[in-house]
Amino acid sequence: MNEERLYDKDTSNFDTYRNDFQHDRDRILYSKAFRRLGYKTQVFTNSEGDTYRTRLTHSLEVAQIARFASFALKLNQDLAEAIALAHDLGHPPFAHAGQDILNDLMQGHGGFEHNCQGLRQITKLEMPYLNFPGLNLTRITLKGIMKRPRVYECDNELAPLVDERSKKPQYSEAILVDICDRLAYVHHDLEDGVDSGILKFSDLDQVQYWKEACYFLKENNKKEFENARYPIRLRAIIRHIMNKSIKELIIHSLSKNNKTSKQIISLAPETKANIEELYSYLKEKLYQAPSVIKMSERGQEIITKLFSYFLKSPDKMPRQYQDIITKDGLERSVTDYIAGMTDRFAEKTYEEL
Ligand code: MG
Repeated sequence: MNEERLYDKDTSNFDTYRNDFQHDRDRILYSKAFRRLGYKTQVFTNSEGDTYRTRLTHSLEVAQIARFASFALKLNQDLAEAIALAHDLGHPPFAHAGQDILNDLMQGHGGFEHNCQGLRQITKLEMPYLNFPGLNLTRITLKGIMKRPRVYECDNELAPLVDERSKKPQYSEAILVDICDRLAYVHHDLEDGVDSGILKFSDLDQVQYWKEACYFLKENNKKEFENARYPIRLRAIIRHIMNKSIKELIIHSLSKNNKTSKQIISLAPETKANIEELYSYLKEKLYQAPSVIKMSERGQEIITKLFSYFLKSPDKMPRQYQDIITKDGLERSVTDYIAGMTDRFAEKTYEEL
């Protein structure tokens, strides 16, 4: 163990076969919050279908892309992987709708933000060790996970970490993960959106980026592409645009680095424009689709009801959350409990109220 950790009295078995960031990655992988991502919504709730992405598969996909790109860019793959696996750990049930409503409910009590919640989760709420709370990750990984130098006020013991994070530019691995996250979710939401039938193949010709991919695939495999069933065509298109954007990210970043001798990780303006175009399309046609809005509203109704119930009956929460009340406040402890829930557990708890 060489890298500084949050607590130095870590008596766990650090083995010499793994480096510090590999230990961090494995601690994240074995956390409860990580396993719960399997039942948290990316766009579609778990009950909608078995092949849609969840936050768990999304996190694994971001980690795969980040690992691959960081190898090409000669960055630290283990650090990138650890940050990627942890990047969505603070997400509440029901995706962004869940985050928005929790933030509304927490007005006047410090608000809710999934990045702050993620940091709280891995430094406080996870409790697998005997001598300290949290996962005791390295300070580097923790700073890499902090998208902004910010924590909730009740987490002020992390102030030194916030201070360190704000004084230095963010690690290249963290910047890379952030871009990989964006690339992963726009492409994969597009795939799931078409797969669900909400987005139509024929309509997507309005999206230049998609149109170009179809053109390229037809040019190279005209007969096969045109004869293929829609699901195979869809996978071919997504694979093509996803690969293209990652390669462009690598090439653009390498060329910048050669010119400036500084590590700059960024998308080329053309790639950025393609991703923006696709995101605007998804925002209008998928994230605002009536069936998705309906799921979001149902999720918000569930969270609102759970929030007021546990405020009135905190003794109905598990002991771990009751223990937080004195130090961090009732509202925060209720929010911690709800934010940790999976979609299906929130639904079940709501049904039983
Ligand atoms: Mg994400």
